[in-house]
Amino acid sequence: MKPTHNPLAVYVHIPFCHVKCTYCAFNTYIGLDALVDSFVEALIEEIKYIGRVRPSQRVGTIFFGGGTPSVLTPAHYTRIFAALHDSFAFDGDAEISLEVNPADVSYGYLRALREIGFNRISIGMQSANAHELRLFNRRHDNDAVARAVSAARGAGFGNLNLDLMYGNPHQTMGDWENSLQAMLTLKPDHVSLYALTLEEGTPMQDWVEKGRVPEPDDDLAADMYDFATAQLGAAGYVQYEISNWAKAGHECAHNLQYWRNMPYLGLGPGAHGFANGVRYSVLLSPQRYIKTMMALDGNAALLDYPLTPVVDQVNVLTQKDEITDTLLMGLRLIGEGVPRQAFRERFGIDLLDLHGDLLRGFAARGLIAFDDERVKLTDQGRLLSNLVFRALV
Ligand code: SF4
Repeated sequence: MKPTHNPLAVYVHIPFCHVKCTYCAFNTYIGLDALVDSFVEALIEEIKYIGRVRPSQRVGTIFFGGGTPSVLTPAHYTRIFAALHDSFAFDGDAEISLEVNPADVSYGYLRALREIGFNRISIGMQSANAHELRLFNRRHDNDAVARAVSAARGAGFGNLNLDLMYGNPHQTMGDWENSLQAMLTLKPDHVSLYALTLEEGTPMQDWVEKGRVPEPDDDLAADMYDFATAQLGAAGYVQYEISNWAKAGHECAHNLQYWRNMPYLGLGPGAHGFANGVRYSVLLSPQRYIKTMMALDGNAALLDYPLTPVVDQVNVLTQKDEITDTLLMGLRLIGEGVPRQAFRERFGIDLLDLHGDLLRGFAARGLIAFDDERVKLTDQGRLLSNLVFRALV
């Protein structure tokens, strides 16, 4: 397989939150504030480890997610960025994002982060309606989101995302219109819309199971998605992925790396990575993560890239696995789809030679469109994407 010359993406997982949202199954912990300083030390060790295994790799995007990255202070980020700059070679225009909770951020905090090097911010708005935010156990109200956006703009963030959730229990179409309208008033550059999913072990799933809150209504959620698609299109946002819209030039480069199935490193407890033909994940427990990284023997032999001593799940991919991943993720991209030339260069085979019968069959049913340049889902195919994806696995 031909090597790719694209820069690497780096995801950094910050596994702390102040409170737990009722729908959330991410690897994040509350009440561990006392561990934050030692977590930062361990993270710096993990970054330096990768830098020793493969020095000065070119990096095009870095994304701090979580958890709640805004739990860390500017002093923490100054030290983390110093380690990142020592270990990697940043592209001049590298996109460096963090997710924040609107309840946490002030102008001073965001100005400091902007000076340290962050240039993109993603604010977890989720809803503009008090009853939904209460059900989610979110710590903010709609005014806090407006203040966070204003602070971020004032601090110099020219690339700002807002997240909203739909298909929520008790959410009416009127509620959804209200959230979308409130979000559009704040003029984000990028919008992500997520349908609520009931995750195993969350209070929300438990409440639905016990009948304390109504089950999400899939038909209403589909209507909400269609409504949002029309509203965002009318407001000048281009849908470039199933759940993501952007003003021109503000597509999220970090997430595009995932959807193009290009390499990314995952650092921090529970982070996932894909590089050198290997998918891997880092152990979940912050305590074990800290203990392992801080107990490293500096003279021990280094592991093969991209592994580190805190990686605990490894899946070595076959070419067939990589092809499937490339198709499933690439078809999520609305305009881009899967470019045939890039596919041929990467895998040494044309997509139509590989899956011609299947793709022609879906094209005849109006679910897939292809030409010499690319294969992509049609509008109808987007609605039935799971059907297409299942057939390609
Ligand atoms: S702030 Fe985000 S990561 Fe933390 S509990 Fe809520 S949804 Fe989960």
